[in-house]
Amino acid sequence: MKRTLRFRKILAMLLCAAAALLCLTALGANAAEPLTVGVPEDRCPVFYRDAETGDPVGIGVDLMRAAAENAGYSAAFRFIEEATLKEALDNPAYDVVMPFGSAIASASGHATVVSENLLQTPFTLVTTEKGELPPLNRLRVGMLRSLGGGAETVRQLYPGIEISMFETMPECVKALRAGQVDALLHNSYVWSYVLQKPSYSDLAVQPAAMFSMDFRAGTLDTPEGRERIARLDGGIALLTDTRRQAVILDHTSQRLYAYDLSDYLYEYGAFLVLGILLFAAVIVIFVLRLRAYRLRQEEKLRHLLEHDPLTGALSLNGFRKRVEELLRAHPDIPYLLSYSNIRNFKYINDSLGMAAGDELLCFWAARSAELLSEAEAIGRFEGDHVAVLRRIGGDEQMLRDERDIVDPLRSYFTDRGKEKRIQVCSGVYVLTPEDYRQINVDHMLDLARVAEKRVREENRDGYEFYNPNQWERGQRVTDIVSHLSAALRSGEIQVWYQPQVNFDTGEVTGAEALCRWNHAKLGWLRPDEFVPTLEETGLIYELDRFIWDRVCQDLRRWNEAGRRRTVSVNLSRCDLREDRNIPGEFYELIRTYGLTADQLRIEITETAYVEDAELLIRTTVKLREFGFQVEMDDFGSGYSSLHMLKEVPVDRIKLDLHFLTGTGDPERGRIIVSHMIQMVDSLGMKLIAEGVENAAQAKFLQSRGCSEMQGFFFHKPMPAREFEQMDGTLPIPGAGR
Ligand code: C2E
Ligand code: CA
Ligand code: CA
Repeated sequence: MKRTLRFRKILAMLLCAAAALLCLTALGANAAEPLTVGVPEDRCPVFYRDAETGDPVGIGVDLMRAAAENAGYSAAFRFIEEATLKEALDNPAYDVVMPFGSAIASASGHATVVSENLLQTPFTLVTTEKGELPPLNRLRVGMLRSLGGGAETVRQLYPGIEISMFETMPECVKALRAGQVDALLHNSYVWSYVLQKPSYSDLAVQPAAMFSMDFRAGTLDTPEGRERIARLDGGIALLTDTRRQAVILDHTSQRLYAYDLSDYLYEYGAFLVLGILLFAAVIVIFVLRLRAYRLRQEEKLRHLLEHDPLTGALSLNGFRKRVEELLRAHPDIPYLLSYSNIRNFKYINDSLGMAAGDELLCFWAARSAELLSEAEAIGRFEGDHVAVLRRIGGDEQMLRDERDIVDPLRSYFTDRGKEKRIQVCSGVYVLTPEDYRQINVDHMLDLARVAEKRVREENRDGYEFYNPNQWERGQRVTDIVSHLSAALRSGEIQVWYQPQVNFDTGEVTGAEALCRWNHAKLGWLRPDEFVPTLEETGLIYELDRFIWDRVCQDLRRWNEAGRRRTVSVNLSRCDLREDRNIPGEFYELIRTYGLTADQLRIEITETAYVEDAELLIRTTVKLREFGFQVEMDDFGSGYSSLHMLKEVPVDRIKLDLHFLTGTGDPERGRIIVSHMIQMVDSLGMKLIAEGVENAAQAKFLQSRGCSEMQGFFFHKPMPAREFEQMDGTLPIPGAGR
């Protein structure tokens, strides 16, 4: 019996224990009832996303979790996906939503219930540093749209405040900076976070907290909602201030603000730009250095290819290139090209040794190089063959070169106590104008070689010209070109006049100015020779300027003596090159000498009009605008183009009598001249015939209506003094009708 009692006792105890366990389990399950809390995401440090877990965290989360646990809930937090808390209220996925300041209707209009206040949150104003705040009743404030509930509370508290809503914080700040609002309003805790952004450093918190707002959880006003809120209120009541302070401190003392790219750019932008510039500079310097290095290397390589390593003279390639460069750069320098060769060089090498041969070549090259200028060149090829491009300096220079280079070369070994005398064979090619137009260095070398070969084969020592005539000519060109300036100064060059007459009346109607040169060395030179030379070398302008000036001086003298005259001057087409303002210069001349424009006739040769039409026509028009008369010179002697007559507005045609005197049937010539006279007349231009040599020509021209004439039949060109003495009219054999 006793045993049964004991057993019963044990059983009852076991049952009790089981019941207690069950009870505990049931109680435990009850304490962990889940509660889903919807919270906003953008309100660090009150609500924000944990950087590691991605879960909602923050002051609000911690406080709510504590309150919920106090009330026997296990709170799970979810970020609300709706734009506003009001909309979130209508979403049954959240048991409660927070934070609310007071009970507001949901977006769909349902009434809500809110919990007790979890935390008194201070709201403060933020302004730009310079901004001064107007009184509260006129304040314009910017807020985030997601704080819509807060805005309603503010309106109730401060009815004078004008509130503008913005979607994002950057928009708020932009409006503040633009002066659209006076201040921004937000939770102080959020400000403490937001203002860590470097680019907001100009914003300042207005120290006096404006007001505080309640921080509550809310849900729709339903029986369950009310019950949930009532339970939460129980939990909130258990929250101590110490706990609240601890939670706030926990989140505000952490450095939560994380820099984004724009922050880094703002903070370190200047350094970044500086860094990039520095980097770019380094790259540029590197590239430039690399290029300079490459150029140096290329230069070295080119030097190697273009030079003879033994003597330092140019190689064949280098010589070719240099000569081309020089001829292109100096088309006005008269050059010769010599090709020289040491007779029996092989024998020197064999008898005196290679070193002696090399020494001789080096001596040769060095001696020559000493005498050459920058515009000359020396090359060595095929062992003992040396070519030189040398400026023509006349016979004297040839002699000097012989004395200074070739003679010491000949006696190189005998001067050094050895038996061997050297023989040098050279060929000289004098460059022609064609060589400058069509540069072919190999061809010129070949021709110099031909002359050199002649010397060698005739067993002579010395040099020979390939083209002696060209040498003579070159000599004359040099004498003409190099002496021009001195000749202009010394009076070697004069203006002569060839009178122009009217065959009907015998009157002298004018004269053509022609230059005469009594060259100190060459004697009387024909303009036919030196004018083309000066044209080729670009010096004709110097001569023409001189002639024009002299003519104007003479005209003034005659004007002053009461013998007004008209003179034709020649204008070379080369005078028009280099963009000179020739019409302006003529005008300047007549102004200087007090002449009138009709006293000067400007002769421009017909071929010039054909070759350089546009420029010449322009110049002609301009000259005529100034009042000068323009003549087309040598008409009929060149490639006459009837087209030109149509195009060119000249005053007078100067008919070259070549038609009558040249080859061909004289009768046909006369027919052509007759028609030309008619044609020029019909075109309204004047006409003068030049080169009239006999009475028959003069009569013929007269009979066809051309009475103005110039030619040996009347007068040869004469010095100014002689022309000056002439009377207005002179008896001309057979003149008059
Ligand atoms: P041009 O302009 O046709 O000059 C006429 C040339 O014919 C002159 O030769 C003159 O002496 C010559 N002449 C005159 N009447 C007769 C004649 O009845 N029969 C023959 N056979 N010839 C006659 P010049 O003075 O020797 O001048 C030759 C050329 O040189 C000129 O031809 C002209 O083109 C040029 N020239 C002369 N002086 C100057 C000048 O100062 N500047 C320029 N740019 N060229 C000039
Ligand atoms: Ca002329
Ligand atoms: Ca002429």
